[in-house]
Amino acid sequence: MKRLREFSYHEPESLEAAIGILAAGGDGARLLAGGTDLVVDMKTGRMRPSIVVNLKRIPGLSGIEAVEGGIRIGALTPVATLQASPLVGQMAAALADAAAVLATPPVRGLATIGGNIGRASPASDLGPPLIVHEAIATIEGPDGSREETVESLYVGPGATTLAVHDIITSIFVPTPAAGFGSAHLKIGARAGGTDIAMVGVSAGVTLGADGRIAAARIVLASVAPTPLRAIAAEQALAGREPSEEAVAAAAAAAAAACRPISDLRASASHRVALAGVLTARVLRSAIARAREASR
Ligand SMILES: Cc1cc2nc3c(=O)[nH]c(=O)nc-3n(C[C@H](O)[C@H](O)[C@H](O)COP(=O)(O)OP(=O)(O)OC[C@H]3O[C@@H](n4cnc5c(N)ncnc54)[C@H](O)[C@@H]3O)c2cc1C
Repeated sequence: MKRLREFSYHEPESLEAAIGILAAGGDGARLLAGGTDLVVDMKTGRMRPSIVVNLKRIPGLSGIEAVEGGIRIGALTPVATLQASPLVGQMAAALADAAAVLATPPVRGLATIGGNIGRASPASDLGPPLIVHEAIATIEGPDGSREETVESLYVGPGATTLAVHDIITSIFVPTPAAGFGSAHLKIGARAGGTDIAMVGVSAGVTLGADGRIAAARIVLASVAPTPLRAIAAEQALAGREPSEEAVAAAAAAAAAACRPISDLRASASHRVALAGVLTARVLRSAIARAREASR
């Protein structure tokens, strides 16, 4: 462990105050939510902020509510709350699946959805299901509020489009179309799979009135610098019967799209093989849920 660099610590009570401190602090400022990434990164020396702004005293940033057209999830909502939420289970099954396998219960009690996006880990468990569900982030900055798709926020390992003074305040997950089902699976390096993903896959499938696949979304973790949309795999499913042949074609296309690195957790070739197997499994679950939703 490296010695922590000295930093000034703030607990503002409003968004305006937080944005003001961040804007004045420039590149050395960092937000603190649950701290499960930031504190570890500071202890290892990967991050050396001069200013840390804790969001915990700002009202209205945590909780899950039904709103017109979907659900709104506050950025400070802990992963454990996502896991336990019946609303998330009904409206975004892949997100509930992912929350249930993110780390261990103590980490899930601290880790937040906003921090998971803000960290932008290629191995993130929440990025893929949020992209499958076409989630939209609300972001507050010095120029006011704006909305961006979660998909468009990721630009590289640990990097987002967010400026240092931007704060994700909530995530909107739209009500899925009729006949939609989604699921998420991951394989971690240790038995039980609740550690960082060697590979993770989220999929969403919409069945049309004729029983064919009207649309599909497939997003993989830990196989590229950002969560990876497997567009060719999605196209391999569109318009087809939800058969084993269609699932196999999509799984092969997803594996072919992967651009993984080799690291301590897995070799690149092992990740590609896992990506194909997991994509097939997660598609079967998503199709089964889509059939349930079509009844
Ligand atoms: C033992 C352990 C196991 C883990 N296992 C997993 C796992 O299996 N899967 C997984 O996905 N992750 C895992 N993680 C990583 C981590 O728990 C998650 O990424 C978590 O969701 C981060 O949330 P946080 O609130 O703790 O973020 P913090 O550490 O507080 O912040 C992380 C980053 O996001 C920024 N940030 C925080 N909130 C916001 C916001 N509202 N707007 C903009 N930027 C913001 C911060 O400035 C910082 O750069 C693990 C971590 C540990 C320590």
